Amino acid sequence: MSKRDYYEVLGVGRNASEQEIKKAYRRIAMKYHPDRNSEDVQATEKFKEAAEAYEVLSDGEKKSAYDRFGHAGVDPQMGGGGGGFSDIFGDVFGDIFGGGGRSRGPQRGSDLRYNLSVNLEDAVRGTTVSIQIPTLVGCDDCDGSGARKGSAPSNCGTCGGSGQVRMQQGFFAVQQTCPQCRGRGKVIADPCQKCRGQGRVEKQKTLSVKVPPGVDNGDRIRLSGEGEASPDGGMPGDLYVQIAVKEHPIFERDGRHLYCEVPISIVDAALGGELEVPTLDGRVKLKVPAETQTGKLFRLRGKGVKPVRGGPLGDLLCRVVVETPVKLNRRQKELLEEFQESLHEEGNKHSPRKSSWFDGVKRFFDDMKL
Ligand SMILES: [Zn+2]
Ligand SMILES: [Zn+2]
Repeated sequence: MSKRDYYEVLGVGRNASEQEIKKAYRRIAMKYHPDRNSEDVQATEKFKEAAEAYEVLSDGEKKSAYDRFGHAGVDPQMGGGGGGFSDIFGDVFGDIFGGGGRSRGPQRGSDLRYNLSVNLEDAVRGTTVSIQIPTLVGCDDCDGSGARKGSAPSNCGTCGGSGQVRMQQGFFAVQQTCPQCRGRGKVIADPCQKCRGQGRVEKQKTLSVKVPPGVDNGDRIRLSGEGEASPDGGMPGDLYVQIAVKEHPIFERDGRHLYCEVPISIVDAALGGELEVPTLDGRVKLKVPAETQTGKLFRLRGKGVKPVRGGPLGDLLCRVVVETPVKLNRRQKELLEEFQESLHEEGNKHSPRKSSWFDGVKRFFDDMKL
């Protein structure tokens, strides 16, 4: 991309005054104006070229950038967005030379994370927990300034307090973070003894954390401003309390629903009966109908969890597990054998699942022609 020199385009010398530049532009603009040269493509190009040259040379800031760096100093395609010299170097070269570009505001303190383990009851109902976290807080002795009581940090002599220095990098002048004060703009001649000039001290902080009802594994509670203090008078960071819900001996949780297993005797399963099942609010009665099979789920509506982000209250699902009786005495065994015989007398109608299973197995082997 070779571009003509702007002074050459306007036909003026490099020392031309503002007035001379304006006059030269008006002369060219009149001559090549599209209204007069609608058919002439070259004239239109010349008109555009002159307009661009005038835009730069008539603007003090852009002109001085152009005088120093040529087209690279003002060309929007070079990254400056047409804003001239300071933008170009802030945006494009600031990163490359690691200077951080323009002056930064004070740094925000770091965020902290705390893993909080709660039991299921507390997660469902909500609770308030007192936690202790090691953190960095602003130093009381120096009010966070880092300078000994009665003294104050002074402006950095190297950068004059801006935190930035201008370095000549070959052809270019670039902004860099001041190496003396590391961008703070201040230096401490007489550091505070307590924080050794850091402005922050380590402290074990005790905080009360309100855990809202319905929280679940992985939920985070943000305590705004309870993170580490800023190193240079900026905003403190935040504290994130991450929830882990402990395993419960009876209930298992899946989102807003709770699950539990309820063992039931073979007799209650066959004849039906009333079970007592646990909920987080206490015991409740559960009617089990006759002929209840093992694994059947019974739903207790509204005995689950109210989700922390809203939504309907969950249920408690009780899975009934039929327990085979153990440690039977002789009499009990006899009764069961007698009972078994009575079942056989009437064919397979008492065990439909067993019969259909045997039928299926028989068909399987018939198909294989074994
Ligand atoms: Zn201090
Ligand atoms: Zn400095």
